[in-house]
Amino acid sequence: MAAYAAPVDDIAFLLGTVFDFDRCMAELPGHEDVNTELAVSVLDEAGKFASEVLEPLNRPGDEEGCRLSDGCVTTPKGMAEAYRAFAAAGWCGLSGAPEHGGQGLPRALQILLDELLSSANLSFSLFPSLTRGAVEAIEAHAGEELKATYLPKMVSGEWTGAMALTEASAGTDLGLLATRAVPNGDGSVAITGTKIFISSGDHDFGGNVIHLVLARLPDAPKGVKGISLFLCPKFLPAPDGGVGTRNAMSVGALEHKMGIHAQPTCVMNYDGATGWLVGEPGRGLNAMFTMMNAERLMVGVQGLGIAEAANQKAVAYARERLQGNAPDGARGPVPIIAHPDVRKMLLTGRAFIEAARALAVWTALQMDIAARHPDSDTRREADALVSLLTPVVKAAFTDSGFETAVTSQQVFGGHGYIREWGMEQYVRDARIAQLYEGTNGVQAMDLVTRKLALDDGRLARRFFARIRADLAAAQPAAGEALVMPVADALARLEAATDWLSGAAACDAGAAATDYLRLFALVAFGWMWARMAAAAAGLGEAATPVERRKLAVARFFVERMLPETKGLAAAIEAGAPALMALEAEAF
Ligand SMILES: Cc1cc2nc3c(=O)[nH]c(=O)nc-3n(C[C@H](O)[C@H](O)[C@H](O)COP(=O)(O)OP(=O)(O)OC[C@H]3O[C@@H](n4cnc5c(N)ncnc54)[C@H](O)[C@@H]3O)c2cc1C
Repeated sequence: MAAYAAPVDDIAFLLGTVFDFDRCMAELPGHEDVNTELAVSVLDEAGKFASEVLEPLNRPGDEEGCRLSDGCVTTPKGMAEAYRAFAAAGWCGLSGAPEHGGQGLPRALQILLDELLSSANLSFSLFPSLTRGAVEAIEAHAGEELKATYLPKMVSGEWTGAMALTEASAGTDLGLLATRAVPNGDGSVAITGTKIFISSGDHDFGGNVIHLVLARLPDAPKGVKGISLFLCPKFLPAPDGGVGTRNAMSVGALEHKMGIHAQPTCVMNYDGATGWLVGEPGRGLNAMFTMMNAERLMVGVQGLGIAEAANQKAVAYARERLQGNAPDGARGPVPIIAHPDVRKMLLTGRAFIEAARALAVWTALQMDIAARHPDSDTRREADALVSLLTPVVKAAFTDSGFETAVTSQQVFGGHGYIREWGMEQYVRDARIAQLYEGTNGVQAMDLVTRKLALDDGRLARRFFARIRADLAAAQPAAGEALVMPVADALARLEAATDWLSGAAACDAGAAATDYLRLFALVAFGWMWARMAAAAAGLGEAATPVERRKLAVARFFVERMLPETKGLAAAIEAGAPALMALEAEAF
């Protein structure tokens, strides 16, 4: 099968033509020298690493899996070398703070790098992404000593990070967690408890593994208010800054799971392990949310990355596989890409992928604005928009990412079910992204209960107004036929939002998943209108990628956007049909 190729042309189109990246960067102190040309050349290099080093390890890593013997985790052949090469090339610190040794490049580049890694090797991508999330939480909440000891080594990738929240009885409901932290009297604590499902909990890459652990101090109140966050390293730091003695923590088992077999998902035992408080006592969940929000965006991008890789393989297969007569009756066998139903599968994937990539870049640009714009109101608004969109990116991208993996597998017919083609691995790997980092159902609840309520509901209304203004601006170039249906879908979303603002909690819970999907389809339509307007303006100068935009935009509007009508009706039907049946009667 053809190797994965990083979508550098599409990235160049988005940055250079749709988002006016150069002007955007010129307004952000510290990023003035960053431009589309630089971004594309950096991502081109990253794409080579992804396709030449990481993708070749993807299937062997899936077959071999991780092993645990004598308490030591061994990752599949080649992973440790690939990780060290990745870190040595500086990729771990791409968007890391320069004061800790990072390159300080924009989040817009980082999110695209995350996509390339997820496409090539999802198991691998978790190592740098979890480390970065841990770095962000430490930067935002830890004391200066912890920062000085841990951040430089984590930003460089020499030491990796892990997040340890989940316990057997505490998943979504972290208020139930039981791990305890008892002060040692010297500023450190002794952590005791068992965490399950800990990604990158241990490995054989060398260096250190830095766990951010949620636990309860003595006499802490029940529920989430009694949770604090602690930094707990596999090896205690030595006086010279390197790794010292082994901490009292160990891998109890590796989880046997459906996919991401090259990623060590650990049961972690903390047996009086030494740790240090990060942030304030009782505010652990708040501090951990810095890491969780970062991870949620990255997990969303995992869905996008897998979809891109699976769709590329499906397109290549559909061009070569000969079956049946042509739709116009001409005698075959013809390449299956001639069949309308195969085209529908491929285009559904493409329409999601390209809109999702655009929305990911837009969201990351808001993160850059939130971090650096000279105007504080502009920074605050950008930060709020990232909060609003985080559950949408996480859930909508991973739901559609999984669907795209399945339809791409479907394009292969029975061969898609056979391991050697690699398509069933995409399906197995993509599935986890809908579950971890807060299930997609929980993301939908977050959107309808917390995010829509931000700024008393005014944030969402300002976001919708922004979409409406962009649609009006896109219409002259993109045309009414492409833009008006998106405006109609936006009106449905606004009506559903009004309905939700007066809905009982149970009705909101019943509507949540459909509402998030409606929200995502409108956001994708908004991106398609912007991309179509940008591509239409190019005329004869348009590249093949740019010409494709108009066709895919039309497909999205005619074949995918109508789903918004059904979603709006389902949302406003409320909870009664869901709650009528007694639990015993199911
Ligand atoms: C491979 C893998 C890697 C993971 N990596 C990590 C990691 O690195 N660190 C870590 O701490 N955790 C990790 N997790 C744990 C993961 O984040 C949790 O599994 C996930 O958040 C869901 O928790 P749960 O499994 O306990 O499901 P539950 O909370 O029991 O949920 C079960 C179902 O009920 C629904 N539900 C639960 N509560 C509500 C509610 N209030 N309203 C509506 N619906 C609800 C859920 O949506 C879900 O469908 C990982 C899990 C896996 C499988």
